[in-house]
Amino acid sequence: MNIVLFGPPGAGKGTQARLIVKKYNYFQLSTGDLLRNEVKKKTSLGNKIEQIIDYGEFANDEIVNLLLTKEIKNSKNRNKIIFDGYPRNISQAKKLQEILNEDNQKIDFVIFLNLSKEIIKKRIIGRIECDKCKIIFNEFFHNDEIIKHKCGKKYLKKRKDDNEKTIITRYDTYMKKTKPVLDFFSTHENFYEVDASLNIQVITSKIDQIIGV
Ligand code: AMP
Repeated sequence: MNIVLFGPPGAGKGTQARLIVKKYNYFQLSTGDLLRNEVKKKTSLGNKIEQIIDYGEFANDEIVNLLLTKEIKNSKNRNKIIFDGYPRNISQAKKLQEILNEDNQKIDFVIFLNLSKEIIKKRIIGRIECDKCKIIFNEFFHNDEIIKHKCGKKYLKKRKDDNEKTIITRYDTYMKKTKPVLDFFSTHENFYEVDASLNIQVITSKIDQIIGV
């Protein structure tokens, strides 16, 4: 079963993807993570990607598709992929179907995590991620959990692109390029919308009900 988690930045796609991975041994395919891994390599491609991410724009489709195809075609991940942050435009949506078709796979569920602009801002500004175990907290809502975090505070990092200025570009880019993908997906036989303003556990149980595991 392959699942697309769709939604604006800050909707909780990464958080929910991680929970599904942990529970059902799925594979989280986050194009944001793939791109950040390239940035860490400090290659000239990595440096270019870093600038794009910092500005809040999208990386080039060709680069993203190349990184993604390798993971989709890896037999370890077959039919247990959660797409997090992909597709982000119509051309990527078409490409995804093409790559999956070629490999005799398909998208089984599309789950749209919907959230208002005001909450998105708060989620992103407060977001803090553990570099070691990859759990995501929010400084506004999870202070107790942050203090008690098992890996220790030194691993908790803010993403460079999680700032007021970049959020505006990221949100505008989402509205302009990503939101139209909803029309493309809305006719999918298993398209579902979930209110992403609910708390994490409630959203998880809604997703569990949808995918029927
Ligand atoms: P995310 O971790 O999903 O919030 O992505 C962080 C940043 O990586 C985005 O703001 C984009 O600059 C870039 N990015 C992630 N996924 C894609 C994608 N599918 N296409 C283009 N750029 C992407």
